[in-house]
Amino acid sequence: MEKIQIIWVLSLLLVFLARLPDGLATDNSCSVSTLDARRFFERENELLRQRYHEEYLASYTYNTNVTDDNRQAMIAVYARNAVQNKQLAQKIKSSDYHLSEDADIRRQALHLSKMGASALNTEDYLALQNAISSMQSNYATTNVCSYTNRSDCSLTLEPHIQERLSNSRDPAELAWYWREWYDKAGTSQKDNFAEYVRLTRKAAHLNDHRSYADYWVQFYEDADFERQLDASFKQLLPFYRQIHGYVRYRLRQHYGEDVVPAEGNIPMHLLGNMWAQSWNEVIDLFTPYPEKPFVDVKAEMVQQNYTVQKLFELGDQFFQSLGMRALPPSFWNLSLITRPDDRQVVCHASAWDFYQDSDVRIKMCTEVDMHYFFVVHHELGHIQYYLQYEQQPAVFRGAPNPGFHEAVGDVIALSVMSAKHLKSIGLTDNGRLDEKSRINELFKQALSKIVFLPFGYTMDKYRYAVFRNEIEEPQWNCGFWQMRSEYGGVEPPVSRTDKDFDPPAKYHIDADVEYLRYFAAHIFQFQFHKALCSLAGQYAPNDSRRTLDNCDIFGSKEAGRALSKFLSHGSSRHWKEVLQEFTGETEMDTSALLEYFDPLYQWLKQENSRLGVPLGWGETNKIPTDCCGQFST
Ligand SMILES: [Zn+2]
Repeated sequence: MEKIQIIWVLSLLLVFLARLPDGLATDNSCSVSTLDARRFFERENELLRQRYHEEYLASYTYNTNVTDDNRQAMIAVYARNAVQNKQLAQKIKSSDYHLSEDADIRRQALHLSKMGASALNTEDYLALQNAISSMQSNYATTNVCSYTNRSDCSLTLEPHIQERLSNSRDPAELAWYWREWYDKAGTSQKDNFAEYVRLTRKAAHLNDHRSYADYWVQFYEDADFERQLDASFKQLLPFYRQIHGYVRYRLRQHYGEDVVPAEGNIPMHLLGNMWAQSWNEVIDLFTPYPEKPFVDVKAEMVQQNYTVQKLFELGDQFFQSLGMRALPPSFWNLSLITRPDDRQVVCHASAWDFYQDSDVRIKMCTEVDMHYFFVVHHELGHIQYYLQYEQQPAVFRGAPNPGFHEAVGDVIALSVMSAKHLKSIGLTDNGRLDEKSRINELFKQALSKIVFLPFGYTMDKYRYAVFRNEIEEPQWNCGFWQMRSEYGGVEPPVSRTDKDFDPPAKYHIDADVEYLRYFAAHIFQFQFHKALCSLAGQYAPNDSRRTLDNCDIFGSKEAGRALSKFLSHGSSRHWKEVLQEFTGETEMDTSALLEYFDPLYQWLKQENSRLGVPLGWGETNKIPTDCCGQFST
């Protein structure tokens, strides 16, 4: 309290001094005084906080009980608040707050004058929210028919289909589930998606952006960010090509040449994930050193009677060990952490900030295994961010770079998944890996962290192209697969035509979630990891005992202090400033990621050359040959 009063007095003094020459020169200056501006933004931030609170409550009610009534109630709250948001943005735009001598006021004015979809008239706004939430509802409620019992059509993505994708080794069964899902979650949503594209384009124009893609990109506050994204992708591609070539070679050995081509795209249904965005579920098919088996951590969890609750408690303890905030009691009382059996819910994991009294929650259909153990940490990273910037005005309660928010939990998980940490919590008994086991572990990590990059890149490169009208509507589907093939070398198991529409088979495309943030997060998290490991004394360059892949920051108050400080700024400052304070860097930089994986990269280059493994891939033949042109970066 004392500190706040001192700051207040000081700022009053500064305001007075800053205003002096102006005040002496004329009394009818049209600039608004900083003091008045502060009062204005204080009031508006409080109203904005209340609107957010109301919106997230309505949205949570819908997400945890997917009914049409709840969907309509949520849209009604959004529409009511959109009018208020628009009025506020217009008021700020017509004022001279953006000329204020106070940088904080200028930044608030800049952020609050962005209207997004609120710029639309009420009819269009409702139509847009209706299109988005209809796609979401369809995704959440899609069930598919069983391969072995076709009359049973009650299978859900989580856990039924995912279980088959992980464990079945029958290409025909895998292709069946792929097709069921894409037909039902994707194709049926074509009209809603077209409406979404039409209305977001209109909203972008009302916000003076050329396209909705440009609206998304401006959140990075860096006119050059799209070019940096392309440059980062190019830097990572040689490593990805080594992984891709090796996996295709080993898959071909397993499934035979009729199923896997020697040099073309990998049929994605064989990769253990509906979108082939991570391939680690089927690592047993291509483990570098099969004679060094992975510890079955899931079996160990089951044997030790782990519960879903226990996974969250371990995550909470990790943050607390760093001296960061504990999960508040309301988190445990109000979160939804397993799938209820009495109603439909949106199972896709998410973390929620209700903008009131530290009310933060997670909604996910958790099961006890390593995948969910990772997701729990990812979501708890969002929660910790919410708690750390809670004291900021509502407009700054967010990340300054969307990629930062997605990176926090992943950074913690990099420590949690280390051999050192898994041993310390009694899930494995070997805290130091020999060289062969180390290559196996790095390969497993790469099958999620590196394999994700072309996927993440494509999600938004594709939508940018659609939003910018660079792909004509009849080619929306073939363009999607052409990009997935060109950037990632994967293709559907069956031919797809313009009668199909596959993009909405991915949650974030239905839910209007910008995706570049995940790509950026996959790079930033290794920068953060390196900085935190240095602070924790767990990493030193060129020290083979202190490498990035066996660093565990658990218990390091110093690392915790740096991370807390970084998070507590929220979006009150430009991301380059807070990044510099945290890691000493001012750019998104792939070098920490490449350093982490370097032993694997070197091994793959040698092994692929020893085996004569072909690298690269050609065009997919699963789409009509007259599709759009190439999309080179
Ligand atoms: Zn996330």
